[in-house]
Amino acid sequence: MSKHYDVGIVGGGIIGQSIAYQLAKEGISVLVLDRHKGGSGATSAAAGMLGANSELEQNDAFFQFAKESQRQYHLLQDELSNFSQIHIQLVDKGMYKVALSQEEAIALKNAVQHHETLEWHTRETVLNHEPSVSSEIEGALHIPEDGHVSPKHVCEAFTKSASLLGATFIENAPVQSIKKASVNDYILSTPQGDFTCNKVVIANGVWSGYFFKQLGLPNRMKPVKGECLAVKSNTLHLEKTIFYDHCYIVPKGDGRFVVGATMVEDDWSTTPSLGGIHALIEKVSPLVPGISSAQLISTWAGLRPQSEDGKPYIGVHPEDDNILFATGHYRNGILLAPKTGTMIRDFILKKKIDENYVRAFSVTRNLAQSNEVIV
Ligand SMILES: Cc1cc2nc3c(=O)[nH]c(=O)nc-3n(C[C@H](O)[C@H](O)[C@H](O)COP(=O)(O)OP(=O)(O)OC[C@H]3O[C@@H](n4cnc5c(N)ncnc54)[C@H](O)[C@@H]3O)c2cc1C
Repeated sequence: MSKHYDVGIVGGGIIGQSIAYQLAKEGISVLVLDRHKGGSGATSAAAGMLGANSELEQNDAFFQFAKESQRQYHLLQDELSNFSQIHIQLVDKGMYKVALSQEEAIALKNAVQHHETLEWHTRETVLNHEPSVSSEIEGALHIPEDGHVSPKHVCEAFTKSASLLGATFIENAPVQSIKKASVNDYILSTPQGDFTCNKVVIANGVWSGYFFKQLGLPNRMKPVKGECLAVKSNTLHLEKTIFYDHCYIVPKGDGRFVVGATMVEDDWSTTPSLGGIHALIEKVSPLVPGISSAQLISTWAGLRPQSEDGKPYIGVHPEDDNILFATGHYRNGILLAPKTGTMIRDFILKKKIDENYVRAFSVTRNLAQSNEVIV
C-alpha cells in the first residue's frame, strides 16, 4: 500500500510547484506527480516576464491579483534562496512598452493617467536610457515594476524548497485517472502505481482539460502555442525589457536576449516553425535594429494553457471542495504563480480569501455562457 498524502497535485510546472511549496511550509504532506520532468511544460518555454502592467489593461480583480503576485516575488527571492540556495534571477529594471506610431503613443499616454507609477518617455529619453532602441520610435511607456525572473530557476527553487520541507515529487508518473475512494479519499492512478490523498489539485496546464471532463465539467482549455528565440550579441545593450504588441525582447542577466513570442491557436505541436521565428524577427527588428545581426543561440516553443476568458481557474470543484483547480494561466503563469500558490493554500486551510478573487477565478464563472452542462 503506497503512502497516503494530505494533498496530491497533478502537474509539476511552476503552478504545481508553487502550490507544493506553500503547502509544505504549512506542514501539509504533499505529493506532486508529473508525467515527464517537473517544469518541462509551458514553464520551460516562458520568457519569465512579470508583466502585470504591460500584459493586463483593465484595473480589475485580475490586475490586482497579478500585482500582488508580482510583489510576492520580492519576498520569495530571499525566502527561496535561503531554503534552496537557488537564485530566481529576479531582474527589476523595468520595461519600455514602445509606440511606433502617433496613435500608439496616444493610447499609451492614456495609460499614464490611470496608473501612478507609469511614465511617458519621449524618444530622446528612451534613447538616452537605451541607445540600442531605434530612433524611429515615437516614445515609450516606462513601466518600472515589470521585471523578469528565470522560470527554470523559480521552478527548481520551489521544488527544492518544498522537498526540503517534506514534499514528495515523482516524475514520469502521468496521472491517468482521479477516483473517489471514500468521502475524503482520492486515488490518483499512474503507471507507477496508485497514490491516495485527501485533496487533489489539478495543475497540469493545458492538459488539465482532460480532468475537467473526467470530473464532470466542460473542457475549457485550449493550447496557444508560443515560439521564442534567444540571441547573444557583444554590441547590443539593453537594460529594460522592450515590449511591443505582445512581442518582447528580454535582456537576461547571462548575456542572452530572449525574443518572444508568437501566438498560434489550437496547435498542439511544440516544435518552432520557420515562419514563426521569421515573424518574430520581423516584429522586433524595427524596435531594436541591431538584433538582426546578433548570434542566434536557440529556438523553442511551448503551449500556453488558455481558458475561455484568458483568466486562470483557481478554485474548488462546484460539487466537491476536496478537488481544486489551478490552471489556465495562459500568457502569465510565471507572473501569477506566487499568488496562485497562496490562494490554493488558503482554500485548503479554509482561510479567508478576497471574494473578488474567488469570483474572478471561479471554475464555474462562465458555465452559463457555455452550451455544455455539468453531468
Ligand atoms: C513561449 C511562451 C512564453 C511565455 N512567456 C511568459 C512570460 O514571460 N511570463 C509569464 O508570466 N508567463 C509566460 N508564459 C506562460 C507560462 O509559461 C504559463 O502560463 C505557465 O508556465 C503555466 O504553468 P503550469 O504549471 O500551469 O503549466 P505547465 O508548465 O505546462 O506544467 C504542467 C505540467 O503538468 C504535467 N502534466 C501534464 N499532464 C499530466 C498528467 N496527466 N499527470 C501528471 N502530470 C501531467 C506536464 O508534464 C507539465 O510539467 C509563456 C508561455 C509560452 C509558451
